[in-house]
Amino acid sequence: MSKDTSAHDCIFCKIAAGDFGTDFVYADEVCVAFDDLNPQAPVHTLIVPREHVVNLNDDPDPNLLGHLFGRAHEVARLKGVADSGYRIIQNNGEDAGQTVMHLHVHVIGGSQLGEGLV
Ligand code: 5GP
Ligand code: ZN
Repeated sequence: MSKDTSAHDCIFCKIAAGDFGTDFVYADEVCVAFDDLNPQAPVHTLIVPREHVVNLNDDPDPNLLGHLFGRAHEVARLKGVADSGYRIIQNNGEDAGQTVMHLHVHVIGGSQLGEGLV
């Protein structure tokens, strides 16, 4: 785990533990998915591991990464955008714009997304 963060006061750890009663779009023993507080598109859902991992700099177990990305299709299907298309974004560190220091995968869709950097 990176030295500058801890699970102790991590908002995504608390959400994943059910502390706030957040509605989960999807949940299993490894991860939960819930809608982003500040959606950037009609569908904007976050896939979050239950385990506190900061980002890829923590060298997470490849099985965990595979699980998170592997569930993106199911989350997109549940949100109704699997066929229309969706974008996956995963930010690492300050320059990437990571604001929550708990690994997460954004699933974004529901409208024509720009052909920008991502
Ligand atoms: P990042 O910029 O770190 O990749 O993305 C963090 C995302 O988490 C942002 O899109 C932000 O809107 C979302 N977020 C931050 N705090 C909360 C929260 O308490 N609940 C939910 N549902 N989303 C949050
Ligand atoms: Zn956490």
